[in-house]
Amino acid sequence: MFIGLDDTDSRDRYCTTYIGMLLMDELGEKYKMDTPKLIRMNPMVKYKTRGNGGVSLRIIEDEKKLTEKDINYIKETVINLVEEYSDFECENTNPGIVFLSEENYTKNRKILDDYYKKVLYDIITVDYAKEIIGKIGGEYKAYKKGHGIIGALGSIASVGPYTYELLTYRKRENWGKKRAIDSKSVVEMDEKTIPFTFNNVDGEKQIIAPRTKCPVLYGIRGIKKDVLIDAMNMVKCGEEIDRYMIYKTNQGTDVHLRYMKIKDIYPNTGVIVYGIVVNNPKDIAGGIVVFEIDDGTGKINCVAYEPTKDFRNLIRKLKKGDIVGVYGTVREEPLGINIEKLKILKLSKQYMKDKKCSCGGTLKSKGVKSGYVCNKCGKKIKYDEIKLIEVKRDIKEGFYEVPPSARRHLSKPLILF
Ligand code: ATP
Repeated sequence: MFIGLDDTDSRDRYCTTYIGMLLMDELGEKYKMDTPKLIRMNPMVKYKTRGNGGVSLRIIEDEKKLTEKDINYIKETVINLVEEYSDFECENTNPGIVFLSEENYTKNRKILDDYYKKVLYDIITVDYAKEIIGKIGGEYKAYKKGHGIIGALGSIASVGPYTYELLTYRKRENWGKKRAIDSKSVVEMDEKTIPFTFNNVDGEKQIIAPRTKCPVLYGIRGIKKDVLIDAMNMVKCGEEIDRYMIYKTNQGTDVHLRYMKIKDIYPNTGVIVYGIVVNNPKDIAGGIVVFEIDDGTGKINCVAYEPTKDFRNLIRKLKKGDIVGVYGTVREEPLGINIEKLKILKLSKQYMKDKKCSCGGTLKSKGVKSGYVCNKCGKKIKYDEIKLIEVKRDIKEGFYEVPPSARRHLSKPLILF
């Protein structure tokens, strides 16, 4: 049996993964539980609290099939905990629960695969999720506007690739208090466990702790469960960990991106586009750097925002004619790709005019008609006959990413390629 949950928390209270952990404890006493899943969906969803994540659990029925009584007990337990730990007062919190039997899950795999892709790539409605739940014989409980059923079903529907996240939870008396995580210990943990853990630090600063008042103390992302536990033991912090839980997740996998031609691109989706840079990058207000690419089917702007910090210096060095691959999500107004990663495939040759005359003087431009005249010996050169010298580019071809603190949960870090 599958159980999906989403949209229970607010920026002030709770966390859907906390309910997942409580359910793992409670249901785990009676049933065999699979690793719970924390699945991120389309990051362009406007009403998300943080990273648009939905949680799902699976009760494994290989030895003992669930009876009607079991199913009723499970549903009641889930509903009670969701009702106890949801921030119903927050306008943006619209909890949703989805239940799906093992049989209907297996029978409807194709519908679930398509739904998972849709929830990653598109913005969908509650009615659409209800329609799919009806089609596959699932059940839902939707509170308030019921948005949560979209992500609850998305989490159940998800398939690999997966990574893991170990989440530690705070003792209740510490909820809402400032977190004291020793950044130095996180830097050391990162050095010892890389590449089996990722996105732990940005320079010397730890980035494993959330900034909201939720029950999570910190989360360590990685690709091996045992390394995550070692990593947790290396992190020093000023309070005792209440509990921890390892979630299977699609974080760090790029599953929200797919190859697209510019003519087919639409807003609020994730893309990988290859094209030629058509103009030198420009700095615009707000610390934003923009350039345009063309792939033969159309042109689109590519944008690096202020939080991407030094990544923008790389972008500024691109030149017209460079061939690049842009990985990112498409913003609506004005249409453009928010860059998550950039692959520089081929740097164009750049030239400058050699204005040095053989006599040692300088060739001065007198306009297109008159060409150049040396200020020392008076030698004349036609405008289009001046020698060009190649300028050495100060960037290299290669794959680049935004800094860890500006990275999306779903973005695959270069270390995992
Ligand atoms: P939480 O920890 O509560 O899950 P969050 O940052 O993941 O916080 P939510 O509060 O869950 O964000 O808000 C995201 C909402 O968007 C959820 O109701 C979810 O069901 C819904 N949602 C997820 N994917 C899509 C999608 N592709 N289209 C429309 N809505 C979506």
